[in-house]
Amino acid sequence: METLDKSEKNSIIDYKDGIVDSVKITNQAMMNVPDLIITGSPEKDLRHRNASRELLRNAKTIPTGHEMSIIYDADMRRIKGHGYIKGNEGSVNIDDYTEPYHAFHNHPSDKSFSFPDIRGMVLRKNMLSLTAQGNGGSKYVMLRRKNCDSDGYYLYLCKKSKETLYSSGATNFTLDYIHDKNREVEIKTLIALLPDSDKEALYSAVRKITDECIAEGGKYGFEYLFKTA
Ligand SMILES: [Zn+2]
Repeated sequence: METLDKSEKNSIIDYKDGIVDSVKITNQAMMNVPDLIITGSPEKDLRHRNASRELLRNAKTIPTGHEMSIIYDADMRRIKGHGYIKGNEGSVNIDDYTEPYHAFHNHPSDKSFSFPDIRGMVLRKNMLSLTAQGNGGSKYVMLRRKNCDSDGYYLYLCKKSKETLYSSGATNFTLDYIHDKNREVEIKTLIALLPDSDKEALYSAVRKITDECIAEGGKYGFEYLFKTA
């Protein structure tokens, strides 16, 4: 972690919003991408690490804070017709595929998964793994085990998304509300009006419940691996 880009713009999806700054991608961060045992095959795991580095190399060419994604097949080979996708600040679309595949996207905050990341993965039954590759070199991976219970985990996530995290005036913040794409502007405005201490309390509540959701995945066959830089 060398330079912090103090971005003014907000993002609900990965909830940087001035609380967590975007990290500028450096060559050092690319070198720091850790080796993780993901597929169990040393060759494929090496390709997995290289894919993380390649993603950072590409994401370095777009503005700091913006995200990029790419998918690979089950053997960790590039898929014809599925190249890098450029996203926006704090969010990006990830391709779906008709065969089992591994998905990657970068996280400018260098922090772990957002709730929409996890929910999106559970819904896409062919997604073998989802990687959030931190701009600073931290790597977060969610693995879908063969015997996983996607429906059970999805139901659990739906229940968690309705829990009140934080109340401000008449507004009850839930994960569903925070991540409602149709109300992005309305929610950003509302959050922007909160005193700084309330903003921080809200963001830490979002991180806490999201981390609970990630940890609970283990019970349903969704294994979480990570190594921070
Ligand atoms: Zn993400």
